[in-house]
Amino acid sequence: MEKIKEDNNILDKSNESRNKDRSVDLITNSVETGEGDGFIVHRCFPSHSIRHLDPFLLLDEMGPLELLPQETKGFPDHPHRGFVTVTYLLEGKFEHRDSQGNSGKLGPGDVQWMTAGSGLVHSEMPEKEFAKTGGRLHGFQLWINLRKTDKWIKPNYQDVPSRKIPIARTADGKVSVKVIAGNSLDAKAVINTLTPILYLHFTLQPGGEVVQHVPKNYNAFAYVINGKGMFGKDKTIVEEKKMIVFKNDGEYVSIREPENGRSSLDVLLIAGMPLNEPIVQYGPFVMNTQEEIDKTIEDYRDGRLGKIEF
Ligand code: MN
Repeated sequence: MEKIKEDNNILDKSNESRNKDRSVDLITNSVETGEGDGFIVHRCFPSHSIRHLDPFLLLDEMGPLELLPQETKGFPDHPHRGFVTVTYLLEGKFEHRDSQGNSGKLGPGDVQWMTAGSGLVHSEMPEKEFAKTGGRLHGFQLWINLRKTDKWIKPNYQDVPSRKIPIARTADGKVSVKVIAGNSLDAKAVINTLTPILYLHFTLQPGGEVVQHVPKNYNAFAYVINGKGMFGKDKTIVEEKKMIVFKNDGEYVSIREPENGRSSLDVLLIAGMPLNEPIVQYGPFVMNTQEEIDKTIEDYRDGRLGKIEF
């Protein structure tokens, strides 16, 4: 008797994740947009169907594009206040400079988690040596809103090289995950976030399957970088360059590679606890009220967000 009871418990546990798998709410295309000085990005949101996904404000796929030798397209000096920008590079090299004298370089797999807080001016450009020869550039930029109480903190960076980002694998070896923020498959991210955020890059070999825990109150979405996958309770098939928004109807998100795929499946799964605070945005400034935006525009015009002097 006791044995059967135990088996039932195990069965219940495996059913639990299946029963609480989220379903797909919306599938959208990323839209090609020129940003900065003509740098091509594929914007996942904001879009006509998604204004924001609290606490997330924007996701851009940067490129992929081929930079010609001496071509220095990028994002010259511009300000930010009130939120976090996360740059995750897959290919190529970038460098940044800011009005507080900080600078740094990003290569393939590196992450820059920049909390703009009270504000700064920075530039994000192809790295000088890389720009001389040119080459392929590909990456992502995510904007995450800050709580009212965090919007005025001193700007800070978490620059994390690829080798320091934890990678975990499923027992069958068919799925690996780079844990940029949060937890996955018993690996914990090294990046600290001010509010709970999950930022995972999954790679699934043909036939691979993973079920990721995502607290029910988190808003969650995925972006298919390449390949084709099956997502959520209904095993909805979604192809590359598309974004999937999940319903808040479960505590898990399942991702499967349908086995007939010719290549591996690469997916970003991003989720976070909503802030539920008013959002007033003016381009690179995200505050809670129009008065704060007016003040921020004034601060920027008067040079109080600083300028890059090196
Ligand atoms: Mn920027």
